[in-house]
Amino acid sequence: MRVICLLCVGVACIALGGCRGKNAAPVTSNSSVPSTASATPKKTGVASQTKTHTSLPLQVPKRLTGPGGKNSIAVLTWHRISERPDQYTVTPPSKFAEELAFLHEEGANVMRLQDAVELIKAGKPLPERAVSLGFDDGFKSCYTEVFPLLKQYNWPATLYIYPDWISSGSGALTWAELHEMQKSGLVDVQSHTMGHPDLVRMKPKKGMNYAQRLRHELFDSKKTIEAKMGRPVTQLAYPYGFYNKHIMQQAQAAGYESAWTVNAGPFSSHFIRGETWMSLPRYLIYRNTTIDRFSRYAFGKPLDVSRAYPAPNGTTTNSTTSISARIDGDVDPKTLQMRLAVIQKVDAKYNPKTRVFSYKPMEELREGTWTVSISGRDKAGRTKTAAWAFVVKKPVPTAIPETETP
Ligand SMILES: [Zn+2]
Repeated sequence: MRVICLLCVGVACIALGGCRGKNAAPVTSNSSVPSTASATPKKTGVASQTKTHTSLPLQVPKRLTGPGGKNSIAVLTWHRISERPDQYTVTPPSKFAEELAFLHEEGANVMRLQDAVELIKAGKPLPERAVSLGFDDGFKSCYTEVFPLLKQYNWPATLYIYPDWISSGSGALTWAELHEMQKSGLVDVQSHTMGHPDLVRMKPKKGMNYAQRLRHELFDSKKTIEAKMGRPVTQLAYPYGFYNKHIMQQAQAAGYESAWTVNAGPFSSHFIRGETWMSLPRYLIYRNTTIDRFSRYAFGKPLDVSRAYPAPNGTTTNSTTSISARIDGDVDPKTLQMRLAVIQKVDAKYNPKTRVFSYKPMEELREGTWTVSISGRDKAGRTKTAAWAFVVKKPVPTAIPETETP
């Protein structure tokens, strides 16, 4: 268990801190301590923000069981494509080309992500082997390395950009390049906030308190990109994958229809209870992602689980909490695996009577966001995966009442 504690900080940072902007500090050993939701009034939408201050419940997705209910799409996400892989998020061009060629050879149906969102919302089926391509941050390589291949395959992609960086230097895309790519009909431009901060832990800046800054990051990025690109911005990708309930509510209030995490699982209408449209899963592709893993990501299916615990997007103050889910799907129990922070395999046990697959940490989980991913293979040998995230937070110490002194 010590191994987990040593690895979890770094690994969780890999898992959760996948994307990094030019100026963002490296995500290293600073433990993740999401701030509690601040007590700012919730807005009910851009249009009505000046008059209403009522709280807005997060939309709970409809769990579909009919046609389309079990369909899924793998949202594959890269960052920079470069010959100089100086960070784990940088993919060499030859590897990237190999990954796209693999998708092509394996008959992937590469879809525009917004189209998949709309099909799932409407309860309609997705094509088999549906895959979506995404690129975070707005690196120049989206234009120099990615765009030529998109044109070659005639495949769509979604770019998540943060306006503060666009047209700011040689490593960044320019607005003109974004326009050219959008004009091709292959590229959607969506929001990755205004300045790419860690939304959970960011400090007040430029005279803005936390609530004002969160509003700036979520609302103003959407408005800015819409004004620059002339198209609606409906999606948000959380920088580093960090979010909490308050941020999800504010993202929804800002008018986003979907918000994307880095919880490693397929996106399907098969929501685990507690998941929302503001906490959708994606797979980050790193320079060391093997083609085997890439294949499991691209063509894996959703695993049917229930009673996921700690609940998706929930917070626990028990740092040695059991982590579990009931396995409802058709999967060989012997092939079940649980991973924390995407890659750290843990020794979880399956109970055939209750069908619960659970893991009890022997040492404390650090404070912060934890992602859980459970995978297994069905009789046909297909990989199935379920993923969610929860937050560990230290309990607030109870104040010891002072005894009155005479
Ligand atoms: Zn990023």
